[in-house]
Amino acid sequence: MRGRELRGELDAFLADNEQDLVAFRRDLHMHPELAFAEYRTTQRIAERLTAAGLNPSVLPRGTGLICDVGSGDGPTIALRADIDALPLQDEKDVPHRSTVPGVCHACGHDVHTTVLLGTSLFLAQQAAAGLLPGRVRLIFQPAEELPGGALEVMAHGGISGVERIFGLHCDPRVDVGQLGLRTGPITSACDKLVVRVSGPGGHTARPHLTADLVFALAKILTELPAALSRRVDPRSSLSLVWGKVEAGSAANAIPDDGVAEGTIRCLDEEAWHAAPDLIKSLLESVAGAYGVEATMDYKRGVPPVVNDEVSVEMLAEAAERALGAGAVVPTQQSLGGEDFAWYLESIPGAFARLGTRTPGGLTYDIHQGTFDVDETAIAMGVRVMATTALSSLWGAGSLDSVTGAMA
Ligand SMILES: [Zn+2]
Ligand SMILES: [Zn+2]
Repeated sequence: MRGRELRGELDAFLADNEQDLVAFRRDLHMHPELAFAEYRTTQRIAERLTAAGLNPSVLPRGTGLICDVGSGDGPTIALRADIDALPLQDEKDVPHRSTVPGVCHACGHDVHTTVLLGTSLFLAQQAAAGLLPGRVRLIFQPAEELPGGALEVMAHGGISGVERIFGLHCDPRVDVGQLGLRTGPITSACDKLVVRVSGPGGHTARPHLTADLVFALAKILTELPAALSRRVDPRSSLSLVWGKVEAGSAANAIPDDGVAEGTIRCLDEEAWHAAPDLIKSLLESVAGAYGVEATMDYKRGVPPVVNDEVSVEMLAEAAERALGAGAVVPTQQSLGGEDFAWYLESIPGAFARLGTRTPGGLTYDIHQGTFDVDETAIAMGVRVMATTALSSLWGAGSLDSVTGAMA
């Protein structure tokens, strides 16, 4: 019974609020803010939530906020949006282009923020009508692009007591009205590795009396990726690729230090966790064989986002109910990173790709100054998020009876 009502209530809510939400998104787009500097954005969201009778709590650094809707004894479900922009120039010629030189919402986080705001306002209405049998935690997360924002949210209890978490990301390769979903890993890990080698140095005439540092570094450059390919399950696609190498200054002098830098990408969570220790032991054994000292600086990026099967089913059912049959489409695991992964290391959840391409229109890639979206995606996102939250709290069964009627 709630299913039919919910669809109608969302229609009515969007008829009243869609234009306003589009205007809210355009305002954010014109005033983008970088990671951990999202003060204005945070303030704008807080104002709107407060006006709707909610009680948002800004994170201690002053950017990003968390807000609970509902007070029932049922489960707590979290919905997350990221709010930061990217350090690149807006290249679009539209009225809502960025007014901040060198800063642009080129990853669509203004859309994610607006979708979550719209969902929040709708859920506030539901709570006021006594129709929320649990809590929904709204997480407006700062600094996804750095990254670090998800860890900041978690450090301040952002997901404590939360049973399940859901998030969306704009996908300009998917048509508006569709939602890309995948069980298991949907993004990848990307870390940075810096290796430094040192030795006594010496004359190239007498490598046996010193340690041939350039030769040893070359061995490290080739042996590490080769050994990894035999020590790690090939299905994890763990790959170390060097991007920078430096050593020496003269043809006839063995240098006393050298450095190599590269990235490690990985599709698999287990292999990602094991990578630093494995690389360290491989590095020490190769360096030891040639008598040089080697140290490494392994900078963790993010783990892969690994979607939980049950959560994907819940999100898929809600999306079909909200957008119509056939709205859920398969999507591939990307080699990009996304810090939503940190939440899923602690609690189950799912991350989906919200279609933002006008059917038959151009595809604008994210992280480019030309990126823009079909703004009807905002209402689609609100429908999906609100339906997911409510069906999670009510239990999918309570909405099932009218699925056919709505499709
Ligand atoms: Zn991004
Ligand atoms: Zn993003």
